[in-house]
Amino acid sequence: MNRQKSFETQQATLYLVPTPIGNLSEMTKRALETLENVDIIACEDTRNTSKLLMAYNIKKPLISHHEHNQKESIPRILHELNEGKSVAVVSDAGYPLVSDPGQKLVCDVIEQGNPVVSLSGCNAAMNALVASGLSTQHYLFYGFLDSKSSKRKKQLNELKTFPYTIIFYEAPHRISSCLEDILEVFGNRNMCLARELTKLHEEFIRGTVEEVLSICDSLKGEMVLVIEGNTLKEEVDMNDAIDKVNEYVQEGYKTKQAIQLVAKELNIKKNELYDLYHKQES
Ligand code: SAM
Repeated sequence: MNRQKSFETQQATLYLVPTPIGNLSEMTKRALETLENVDIIACEDTRNTSKLLMAYNIKKPLISHHEHNQKESIPRILHELNEGKSVAVVSDAGYPLVSDPGQKLVCDVIEQGNPVVSLSGCNAAMNALVASGLSTQHYLFYGFLDSKSSKRKKQLNELKTFPYTIIFYEAPHRISSCLEDILEVFGNRNMCLARELTKLHEEFIRGTVEEVLSICDSLKGEMVLVIEGNTLKEEVDMNDAIDKVNEYVQEGYKTKQAIQLVAKELNIKKNELYDLYHKQES
């Protein structure tokens, strides 16, 4: 067990600081204060982060930390924390760790015993979801699907029966092929394509997958796909239900008990299953 009181610790802390996904004004006061107060900033691309820091007149030593150098960058960050230096982690946009680097670093810092604190802020998935018009009560953030169609379809097949809203990130040059696969596997559901969020050309395209697919070749910029969950109730095959009753009977259950159990498991009417079971017996 690991309990952390974020505002009562004297230990050097790793701060996860979200940065704007396009609109520079969306930098919170706390995010700016944190970047000003830490000893070091670990960032994905030092050129990108330098631009952000310059806009807010913040000068701090930067450490490059990305997917391909984490074998070297993580031990270095762990060492700095061990020396009592506080570190902020940022990615190029939005939350670090959300389809961005940082997962292993966070696990390793927790294991080393230093606090990890997250700040509230920008994230493309949330902006897209809440304005999509689709259900926000339950949802799944999937992030990027595979870039290859065959693997992508396999992933989509695993999600096909998921009844809640699903959020995907996708690169603009793959948007058509990705939507084609979504149409093929999920069918023509309602969806929202949110692009260039928080930027001048921000646009929400709400419609069916077919409708959005028909215009998406002309679309540019960064995009999030929000797709309605599966709303179709799966039909229960009554032959399967009868087979299940027989299985329970063979296991030693009385017929009446077996019918009750199967009806409950498959969410079907007990009487209907009872009639059908006895009809096939006679
Ligand atoms: N860490 C980021 C976050 O918290 O949202 C996501 C980074 S991921 C590498 C980049 C993807 O996020 C893009 O391909 C796009 O799907 C989505 N994205 C980022 N900024 C966006 C924006 N302004 N408008 C729409 N989608 C955006």
